[in-house]
Amino acid sequence: MHILLADAVFTHDAILRDHGIVFDQTIISITPNEVLRAQYGDQCQELGNGSVIMSGLINAHVHLEFSANRSTLTYGGFMPWLSSVMANRDDLINDCDDVCIANTIDTMLAAGITAFGAVSSYGYDLDACAKAPQKVVYFNELIGSDPKMADALYANFQERLFASQGCKREGFYPSIAIHSPYSVHRILIQKALSYAKDHALRVTAHFMESPSEREWLDENTGDFKPFFENFLKQHQAANTAEDFLGYFTEVPTLFTHVVHPKEKELALMQEGGHTIIHCPISNRLLGNGTLDLANIQSYNIRWVCGTDGLSSNYALDLFEEMKIALFMHHSHDLLTLAYQLWHSVTVNAAKALDLNCGTIAPDYDADILVTRVDYPINEQLPIHLLLQPCTIESVFIQGQKVKGN
Ligand SMILES: [Zn+2]
Repeated sequence: MHILLADAVFTHDAILRDHGIVFDQTIISITPNEVLRAQYGDQCQELGNGSVIMSGLINAHVHLEFSANRSTLTYGGFMPWLSSVMANRDDLINDCDDVCIANTIDTMLAAGITAFGAVSSYGYDLDACAKAPQKVVYFNELIGSDPKMADALYANFQERLFASQGCKREGFYPSIAIHSPYSVHRILIQKALSYAKDHALRVTAHFMESPSEREWLDENTGDFKPFFENFLKQHQAANTAEDFLGYFTEVPTLFTHVVHPKEKELALMQEGGHTIIHCPISNRLLGNGTLDLANIQSYNIRWVCGTDGLSSNYALDLFEEMKIALFMHHSHDLLTLAYQLWHSVTVNAAKALDLNCGTIAPDYDADILVTRVDYPINEQLPIHLLLQPCTIESVFIQGQKVKGN
């Protein structure tokens, strides 16, 4: 059992000054330091001035297989970026071996990420994810819009899915990703979702990332048209946006990006109990625009903040991601948005990914960060933690120290 006494416990809802936390695998109590001292005496570990205990962070959307990218891919617009992915995909994938993926996972851990959702295109990241100390929701990605290739593509997807299901460890969750409405044939989508429903698997999908996607799905025209005609001999979008969302009616799903939705689509998302994953840095770098957060909130749709992969980001760091979001959504009240962002990478991400963590409260898994700030703690801590990031001194996952002293 650990008894840590901190300057503050940041529970995402409240900043509890002079409080400590008692935990083993799960959290037992959050109690004023003086009470803990009286009760446990020498067993207490005093963390001292500037210490803040908070929940481990949850990054709901990352593509680890593209972690070798630094300056290879073209930023500024979605189509130039996509073309650069097509041209460099093999090299980037080959350049990221198991060590590269394991290092990337370790970088996330050092940045306080104790759980993540990894979208896997090829299964090359399976070993590293299976060995990771973090909780991992492992999304095997299904892609393929050509009906003639449907069986082969589904078989490949199934092989990867089964391989991940063969990997039994606590905190590892084999799951399903449907790439996007424009890239997956409805037969494949329906087959995969029916499997997900039968086996209670978690599901994610990209949705309405770029203006080009909107145009292609609505009008079968725009920048996607030459791309699909040249690469895939396809003249019509694989799905309409509304049909696509309709397939997910009974499967609560994490939809990534959703920068260009229509009102009807947001209503469907709300009805379906879906979650939106907001990746502000990726959206900016690929020229995709800004998520309309106020509108998402007006529909009461849960949203979480994620990093996306290093194919469209310079770091897998939720502190950085939240800071960018804080500045991007400049019309929102600063402190309110800061709190919402903290919720988005803790309690809300845990709910969306169905994990028993993300909250500093009794009976939740003790996925905990011990951090330190070098400034006085006050009621604006959620803002200051983003502007002047803390030092992460140790990281606990289910009560086990996995990083730090
Ligand atoms: Zn993505």
